[in-house]
Amino acid sequence: MRDHGMELERKRGGEDALSLSYEEWRERMEAWGEPRFRADQICNWMHVRKVFDYHEMSNLSKSLRERLSGSMLMPLPVLIREQKSKDGTRKYLWQMADGARVESVLLNHGGHTTACVSSQVGCPLSCVFCATGTLGFGRNLTPGEILGQFLMMERRRLDGGAEQGINNIVFMGMGEPLLNAGNVFKGIRMLNHPKMRNLGARHITISTAGVVPGILDLADFEVPLRLSVSLHAPNDGLRTKLMPINRQYSLSRLVEALRVYRNRTGERITIEYALIDGLNDDPQLAYEMAALLDGLEPYINLIPFNPIPMKPELRRSPEAKVKAFCAALAELRIEFEVRRERGADIMAACGQLAGTLRCT
Ligand code: SAH
Repeated sequence: MRDHGMELERKRGGEDALSLSYEEWRERMEAWGEPRFRADQICNWMHVRKVFDYHEMSNLSKSLRERLSGSMLMPLPVLIREQKSKDGTRKYLWQMADGARVESVLLNHGGHTTACVSSQVGCPLSCVFCATGTLGFGRNLTPGEILGQFLMMERRRLDGGAEQGINNIVFMGMGEPLLNAGNVFKGIRMLNHPKMRNLGARHITISTAGVVPGILDLADFEVPLRLSVSLHAPNDGLRTKLMPINRQYSLSRLVEALRVYRNRTGERITIEYALIDGLNDDPQLAYEMAALLDGLEPYINLIPFNPIPMKPELRRSPEAKVKAFCAALAELRIEFEVRRERGADIMAACGQLAGTLRCT
């Protein structure tokens, strides 16, 4: 896979400042003969105060500000469009330095704010119910592009007079985060770092369609974040029909990896299941799911299916069927909730993101 960060550097003659970890900033400052606390100052400007213009970093020497301006690029996502839903959810369309476009979503719930960010331009997985999957795959986002979505949304929020920044981040936007694990993990380490954004691990969630090696990496990841798995079907036949990735990582391998993750981290896993009319909403499947996940003590998130224009034949399960599915889960004593739909009027709900690709 081509490394977009390095390519950017070659093309534009500078390094991507947004993708540098705290440790890398310390190394750069040392190499430049600067005191190492300069790294702390720069990281604070960018990640806490959201100041990205070196000339405004007033506690740095003038010569350092100039050297930074001449050699460290700040490829922030450029806002192309912001849409606001009736329920207050906001959707942002960003353009990256090479013209690629992705979307992010900002949700409010009970005084907390969650940023839903993209990890790839498009997505290679082609899940049949997901709008992003119909775009195909553009490229991986860099750590800076992933973080940039969060920082720009937080800056807009604070500039707009909000008292608090963003509380949570979920990797539930466009793309499969565990197929871009290197950049996603680096971005998460940076967000979590006390000298950078210092966002608590409990406030970070990765959602995966079931990339087994990535789940195993997460079992040993030093940031104890939360894991969500998009299941949508409890047997291989149905799941392969809905999610082609199941051919590569079958349910037995997926569940085995989830057991390793659960044993190693002690963390509870959230299972996402979108109820699609006549496809996967038979209550019998709830029993099958319980047997499949036996011993894992999962938390089930039932998502009302969000219609997408490219698949008009797929419809949300009617209320009565949702109730029957819930009743089966309750009888099985499996903990679940039906997720409230957010932002559907601006196509910002789960699976509806499809910011145009445009990679050059
Ligand atoms: N690739 C990752 C990240 C995307 S998260 C993953 O698959 O988990 C987006 C969540 O919304 C996933 O659980 C996905 O399965 C779900 N989803 C996709 N399309 C949907 C739709 N049309 N309605 C409801 N949920 C959908």
